[in-house]
Amino acid sequence: MTKQDYYEQFGISPKIYNLGEECLALCKDKLEKADSIAEINQCKVISAMKEHRVNNGCFMQTNGYGYDDLGRDTLEKVYASVFHTEDALVRPQITCGTHALQLALFSNLRPGDELYAPAGKPYDTLEEVIGIRPSKGSLAEYGITYRQTDLLPDGSFDYGEIRKNIRPNTKMITIQRSKGYQVRPSFSVGQIGELISFIREIKPDVIIMVDNCYGEFVEEIEPSDVGADLVVGSLIKNPGGGLAPIGGYLCGTKECIENAAYRLTSPGLGKEVGASLGVLQEFYQGFFLAPTVVASAVKTAIFAACVFEKLGFPVLPRWKEDRADIIQSVTLRTPEALNAFCAGIQYASAVDGYVTPEAWDMPGYDSPVIMAAGAFVSGSSIELSADGPMREPYAAYMQGALTFSHGKLGVLSAAQMLLSRGLINLE
Ligand SMILES: *Cc1c(COP(=O)(O)O)cnc(C)c1O
Repeated sequence: MTKQDYYEQFGISPKIYNLGEECLALCKDKLEKADSIAEINQCKVISAMKEHRVNNGCFMQTNGYGYDDLGRDTLEKVYASVFHTEDALVRPQITCGTHALQLALFSNLRPGDELYAPAGKPYDTLEEVIGIRPSKGSLAEYGITYRQTDLLPDGSFDYGEIRKNIRPNTKMITIQRSKGYQVRPSFSVGQIGELISFIREIKPDVIIMVDNCYGEFVEEIEPSDVGADLVVGSLIKNPGGGLAPIGGYLCGTKECIENAAYRLTSPGLGKEVGASLGVLQEFYQGFFLAPTVVASAVKTAIFAACVFEKLGFPVLPRWKEDRADIIQSVTLRTPEALNAFCAGIQYASAVDGYVTPEAWDMPGYDSPVIMAAGAFVSGSSIELSADGPMREPYAAYMQGALTFSHGKLGVLSAAQMLLSRGLINLE
């Protein structure tokens, strides 16, 4: 059997297969660039592990209070070295990305302080954390105010407004690297660096946090290399490398991390407690794999952009553009097409490959969301997945793929599903 025959067994018609081959040739240089960035990040991770003398003893299981958990403490040093920060908190007790972000906010803000978002609305789930949408336990309930400046229509920072909105009680700034569920470009680390320099001139001591979800290892440097005090993310996204079964991380200044540790566990206890149970080997090995796994995800995104651009859908970013995160949005324009796209991704999954996704009211989101996810780790979005809110413009946000072979198959399967359901025409 030829390679194409294997794809045909998967329901991929010759037309879609050939389109894929054409796209692969077209974006060859871009795919190679992703591999080259992975090499750099792989060096960073291995050298940090060597520096901190990672050994088998680090993978041992602790329970109870978890005092003197060598593996946990060493892993936090490894993260701090890779992100070039003074300290880090990397824990299975941080349940998800939203939890990590809320931890950073609640631990570093006090009543009367203001949180400022100079680059537009933060991620959907943070609306309830902040209290933009009223919610029990929000920052607003604790007397912490919030202010936001939207991006200019061309997607750039509104420096005039930002200058006006940084006030005496502005204690913390939040910047989101990835676009999340918005139709705007994700910010490159370079762009974030420019914004940080501008803010530092106005208020040198303000705490600048970057929501780093989906951005880790996509570029050669991280936001903490360009002046962020705190970078925060989820371990079931990029830095977990697909192996971490849970967890979140914060890397940042000694003071920010200390505050976060006292909030995560308890004042007085901080980083000293928190047994790692049995997850450390997966945390280490996942972090070791993360640079190449992220490259697989980036390559899948580039390939998807190329295929769907050729099929006539608006895509963001375009395949030719440099990447700032692993997310690819494809604007599908109708609920039927968004459904078909997600069904196609699901169809190509190793886990739950036999089910059809449906939209549901997910906690933390304000409209029904459809999700395609055939993940070994439930909800993991460093694994190939696609989701989108059921609202105009019916954009699918696709991300992940532990291997590019799977990513390619998923993208072709999504295109095939649109074709099979009569939602696109191929001459
Ligand atoms: C995923 C994500 C979050 C929230 O993470 P969860 O793990 O889903 O809670 C926050 N910000 C961005 C940009 C994200 O992509």
